[in-house]
Amino acid sequence: MNEILTLLRPAELSAPHSALVLDDAESIRLQALEAYEILDSEDEKSYDDIARLAAFICGAQTALISFFDRDRQWIKARFSSAAFAEKTRLLPRNHPFCDLPITQPDPIITVADMQQEPRFAAAAQTPATAKLRFYAAVPLISHTGAVLGSLSVLDKRSRTLSPEQASALETLARQVMELLDMRRTVIGLSAANARLGQQSITDALTGIPNRRAYDQKLNEEASRARRTGAPLSLLMVDIDLFKQYNDTFGHLAGDSALQSVARVLLASLRPYDFLARYGGEEFAIVLPATDLSDAISVAERVRALVANSEFPHRKFTISIGVARLDLEAGVKALVQTADNGLYRAKASGRNKVVVGNLEKFRAAG
Ligand code: GH3
Ligand code: MG
Ligand code: MG
Repeated sequence: MNEILTLLRPAELSAPHSALVLDDAESIRLQALEAYEILDSEDEKSYDDIARLAAFICGAQTALISFFDRDRQWIKARFSSAAFAEKTRLLPRNHPFCDLPITQPDPIITVADMQQEPRFAAAAQTPATAKLRFYAAVPLISHTGAVLGSLSVLDKRSRTLSPEQASALETLARQVMELLDMRRTVIGLSAANARLGQQSITDALTGIPNRRAYDQKLNEEASRARRTGAPLSLLMVDIDLFKQYNDTFGHLAGDSALQSVARVLLASLRPYDFLARYGGEEFAIVLPATDLSDAISVAERVRALVANSEFPHRKFTISIGVARLDLEAGVKALVQTADNGLYRAKASGRNKVVVGNLEKFRAAG
């Protein structure tokens, strides 16, 4: 206990310029804590169980698992037979229960009688902790050395822990860290999963949705059109004479030209239009709630914009096939019709917008 009294707090040790270092350390600590996404999380039985065990083994009235946020000590789990008058879930960050595990880097901290120590005056003034005398805590330390919080036991009477109890409390604190690390692994895995999911529907070269995403979107929009009766149109876009560009300027230049064209196409569309790389130098644009005449206008606008844009080495033109979904003929016919328009746009000299011929595909369903 006396060693706590004589302990100098880092703030008292700090030279004027080292205050900044402390701030840095605190922000690193907070970052480490954030990675666990534990603050304000739901109650979890596994943490409650550890708090209960800690109280039971130490013969204490109260046990807490708490985390030290920027300006509060947030209590994740509490077992309390009596000592906490209020079921408070947080304490101020400058409360002594919070400061000690951060400022005193001991494996276990015990204070036999807080009321004997001026350091704990603040605890006496906080209604939730006013009557407490005994405090013991094991800091919860991340593998990077950041003090995230503590597992603590509290009592209204002055006392100490036996060596066995102290050792058991340290063991339980390690279990809390195991739970926390497991939690962080799960968070990491779900983030990686989300990234993989995103990658699987994104074209690596242009960063726009890929063929798989397009297939999905087209089918979704077709179902919606069927449900709501709203029109749905499709544009198939193909860069004109792109092989020539590749042959002349090389494949890498071709790649970056594809990226530029994708950017121009994307910029020319409305927020609810959907652009995908269909494959090679071909793009598909799904136009929800768009009838044929509006689809032709969009296609014409996109064609003109590309034709008037500057690209490295030389200008580009695109050909576009347009089709509108015929509910009777179905999605396959929609794609074939747009393809037919594209084929005819190429055949009639390129840099054109041509509406596909549906009749030819009506039977195809
Ligand atoms: P057309 O006007 O008839 O469409 O002529 P084109 O030369 O564009 O058509 P073609 O199908 O003969 O050639 C397409 C070219 O697109 C061939 C291929 O090298 C190029 N290409 C396809 N995908 C990529 C890619 O990812 N990177 C690069 N650099 N080139 C690609
Ligand atoms: Mg092509
Ligand atoms: Mg082409």
